[in-house]
This record gives sequence, C-alpha cells and structure tokens, in this order.
Amino acid sequence: AQMKIGFIGLGNMGAPMAANLASAGFDVAGFDPAGTSAAGVGVASSAAQAASDADAVITMLPNGAILRSVAEELVPAMKSGAVLLDCSTVDVDSARAVAKQAQDAGLMAVDAPVSGGIGGASGGTLTFMAGGTEAGFLKVTPLFDIMGQKAVHCGEAGAGQAAKICNNMILGATMIATCEAFALADKLGLERQKMFDVVSTSSGYSWSMNAYCPAPGVGPQSPSDNGYTPGFAAELMLKDLGLSQQAAETADADTPMGALALALYKRFVEEEDGMGRDFSAMLPRFEGRGRD
Ligand code: NAD
Repeated sequence: AQMKIGFIGLGNMGAPMAANLASAGFDVAGFDPAGTSAAGVGVASSAAQAASDADAVITMLPNGAILRSVAEELVPAMKSGAVLLDCSTVDVDSARAVAKQAQDAGLMAVDAPVSGGIGGASGGTLTFMAGGTEAGFLKVTPLFDIMGQKAVHCGEAGAGQAAKICNNMILGATMIATCEAFALADKLGLERQKMFDVVSTSSGYSWSMNAYCPAPGVGPQSPSDNGYTPGFAAELMLKDLGLSQQAAETADADTPMGALALALYKRFVEEEDGMGRDFSAMLPRFEGRGRD
C-alpha cells in the first residue's frame, strides 16, 4: 500500500508539493492554520490530526521557531517508526534539535530543504539536500522522486540545511558581484551584451551570470526580463543569508563576504526598494548609485 502522509504548511511551496503527492496516488492529509488547501489533499483540523496514522509527516514552514513549535505538537501524535521530513529552510540548530526530539520519541527524522522555487514545487522538479540517517533517507526517497528530480543525502541531521545555506551564501555573494560588475561596465562604456559574451565564457562565469543574468535583454530569459518580478525574492535571499551568518557564528567560521552580502540585502529590502523584487534587482540598485 502507498504511504500515508501528513503535510503541514500549505503555502506557496507546500501546496503544490502536497498536490503532486496526492496526484501520484498517496493518501495526503494537510493542515495550515491560514486555511489554505491543495488539490486532492484532505483537510485535517490540526497538525496532530494530520500526523496521526501517517507513515511520513512533511513540514514546509516559514522558519525554525515555527518548526520547533509545530514539532512539539507533531512528535507525540506520530506513530512509532514514522518519519518526520522537514523541507523548510531553517537554521541548522533547529534542524538538529527537532531531529533529536523525533529520534528520542522513536521516530526517524530527515531535514531536506529544497532548491528550485515555486516553479520546481509545481513541476515536481525540486532538488532536495537531505540530512539524517540512511534508513530515514531511504524511507522518504519515493516522496523525493515525486516532488523533485534529484535528492542528495548530505550526511547526518542538519547536513541538508548546512548544504542549503552554504549554497545560498555563494549565490548571494556572486549575484552582488555580478551586478556591481555590470554597473561598473556601464560606467566604463562597455556594452552589456559584450560583457555577457566575455564573462559567461571566461573565469567570471557563474549561475548568476550565465543562467540568471541580472541585465535585461542579455543571456537567457530571467526575472530581469520581467521587470524583476520574482523569481527568487530579495527577502528570501535575505532570510538565507541571515541563516548562514547565524551558522557561521555558532560554528566560529570566518565569512566576511557572507556578512557583507547580508548587510547589502538587508539594506536593499528594509531601507530601499528591494522588498517584493527579485534578488537580481541589485543591478538597478548599483546602476543608480555612485561610490558610497
Ligand atoms: P509561505 O509563507 O508561502 O508558506 C508557509 C506556510 O506555513 C503558510 O501557509 C503558513 O500559514 C504556514 N504556517 C505558519 N505557521 C504554521 C503553523 N504553526 N502550523 C502549520 N502551518 C503554519 O512560504 P513558502 O514560500 O511556501 O516557503 C516555505 C519554506 O520553503 C520556507 O522555509 C522557505 O524559506 C523555503 N523555500 C522557499 C522557496 C520559494 O521560492 N518560495 C524556495 C526554496 C525554499
């Protein structure tokens, strides 16, 4: 028989992920206090109700504090041997604390944040980076196969979150570097298309330049060609950079580029016009400025 699944957090990401599991034939019970629902997914009246009887409970929540509070309710309600699969992006400490709580209660736990955004969630093409035991990873692999196209088992509890925030720290820093270089190129009178032609095939290339070019009309189609509508919103990048700096502090790691990327996205989102715009809208930000 197909696994029975509880799905907690039916937001922008969770709703399409849950709907994909339901349309693949899984018996899915969903809960979200905002009252959102998903196609084919049964409506539970609480997180505990969605969890009772489930072989796997998936959480897709805003942050680690909410995950910790939801876990307080879920863990006692879950049946022995079931797996708690958190796909939210949260801090490494919360991921490890929730995994320990689940394991102490006789459950399995896997942290598996995703990349691929809302498009990947609807299309079932997410990438999962997972932390936890081999047994836990194997048990949820059929779910990864439906919701995504790739799952990497990164190591013990928290390793999935560690991989996610390290990746996004690189992404934040390379996007800023790419945008400031385009703005400098403008002021030097270098055409953007020429800049792209050279850099995208030279040692300055990156995903930010080659796949998600922040300059409109240059490179493949990206949010810059659509007025910087996200895409990947600047405030989500700000969240992830906050998590990488928090982790760096706990682990005593020196991450000056990550710190600067965090400060720039914080200013962009909180004091400038970054809120609600794609994270590549750093280019018009730099364009309009002189040295400061
Ligand atoms: P969202 O805000 O749309 O959804 C979160 C949902 O959690 C909301 O519907 C909210 O009502 C629900 N929720 C809040 N408190 C709850 C509680 N106590 N119990 C149950 N549900 C509760 O956010 P999203 O865009 O779906 O993102 C979810 C997670 O995925 C975040 O951790 C985010 O960082 C991560 N993520 C998002 C993207 C993206 O592009 N949106 C990409 C990768 C990762």
